[in-house]
Amino acid sequence: MDPSELAVMAFVALLVFVCLISIARAASTRRAPPLRQPLSARELETASGVETALAALVRRPTVSWFDYGRTDKAAFEALKADLVGLFPRVHAALNRREIGDWALLYEWKGGDAGLAPAILCAHFDVVPADDEEAWTHPPFSGDIAEGFVWGRGSQDVKVTLASILFAAERLLAEGFVPRRTLYFAFGGDEEVGGPLGAGAVGAFLADQGIRAAFLLDEGGPVADGLMPFADRPLALVGVAEKGYLDVAVEASGSGGHASMPPRRTAAGDLARAVAAIEARPSPARLTKTLRAFLEQVAPYSSLSYRLLFRNLWLFSGLVKAAFSATPSSNALIRTTAAPTMLQGSAKENVLADKARANVNVRILSGDSCGRVIERLGRIVAPFGCIARQAYEGLGVEPLPESSVEAEGYLAVESALAASFPEAACVPFLFSAGTDTKHYRYVAENIYRLTPLRQTAGDLAQVHGRDERVSVDNARRCAVFYEKLIRSL
Ligand SMILES: [Zn+2]
Repeated sequence: MDPSELAVMAFVALLVFVCLISIARAASTRRAPPLRQPLSARELETASGVETALAALVRRPTVSWFDYGRTDKAAFEALKADLVGLFPRVHAALNRREIGDWALLYEWKGGDAGLAPAILCAHFDVVPADDEEAWTHPPFSGDIAEGFVWGRGSQDVKVTLASILFAAERLLAEGFVPRRTLYFAFGGDEEVGGPLGAGAVGAFLADQGIRAAFLLDEGGPVADGLMPFADRPLALVGVAEKGYLDVAVEASGSGGHASMPPRRTAAGDLARAVAAIEARPSPARLTKTLRAFLEQVAPYSSLSYRLLFRNLWLFSGLVKAAFSATPSSNALIRTTAAPTMLQGSAKENVLADKARANVNVRILSGDSCGRVIERLGRIVAPFGCIARQAYEGLGVEPLPESSVEAEGYLAVESALAASFPEAACVPFLFSAGTDTKHYRYVAENIYRLTPLRQTAGDLAQVHGRDERVSVDNARRCAVFYEKLIRSL
């Protein structure tokens, strides 16, 4: 046999070996538990009534604005007063504090002072409802009709606030005392970044030296049909959250009259710099969270996907290419940089002496604000541009990836199994921002989940028109929190 023949045979043998290993790994994936039915309407009876509490909260137009002076403070005060009437046992048994004007903090003392507390979060502000006439039911009607609670905030996220307090109210009625101390932290300005709500609560808890075992805030849905490769709904528990940064890219020119332009202008330089940023996306990376997601979703996937997900050592390139294909999956594997605002001169016939672009950056775990600015600076330098942080002090570093083995995650997983038996619980990267950034130093592990079955259509109503939640879904949410609190 000549050496070239030997080389071919060795190569084929290696290929066969690699194939066998991959298939063996895919096949050895633990079997998924059998598909189960969602809780029936009868099983959800225990949470009957949460929908009326939710509807009452929806009727308060607690819209938050970046200009706090624009806010309807009476609506916020009325909502806070409503809670006392809706949940009398909670208000008799728990310690309620108003932290500034924009937050409520409830403390439910646990039986065992040696255990680190847990924090359950929600927010009671909402985004405005544009185009009110186009809504099927007016946005602040809180109508309960056709099996739904209608209105702004019914999904985002008065439903979790109502569910947490509803669950506590029920448990108090049976004399339940949690083992560990529980805090319910509700902010009133999440939709405008949460500085005076969750920000104030985070600072207050840190001041008290409180370090929670875990915190649960709004986040991923129990995704219904959003991941077509999975054989069942997936409860996407956010264990990581991307960072946030606005970067200003600037070009300088000579200004002057546009009738005699130089060969290069500030506007032209800026345009080339922005095009270069789009042409050079940051490198793709499979984070610890994404690897855990793929690993855990494998048992619920068809064989071909299992082959990919269980063999990242071989197929990570392929997985990265597949994830790069759509904006939503692309955002899971890289720091994204989106040019959002462009500014040149203020007049048609005047050359810009400064041209400026805002680039909105969402930072992947493991990356940082500093590295982003450095990277963008290198990309735009050849075009005579500079990159700098647009607003000092307003960058948010990505939050650390929380453990999927810690007791908090396991408690969420088992509460999900009891309230959404039809779904599988998997860790996920949450690519939007939440209040959790304000609790970075207060909780060991941070999880983000909105325990509602949501389709793509439901999610489009969040911040959109005809926001609504089905009565069954609201009750499932309340059952989830009851199971969770019981297990703590
Ligand atoms: Zn929200």
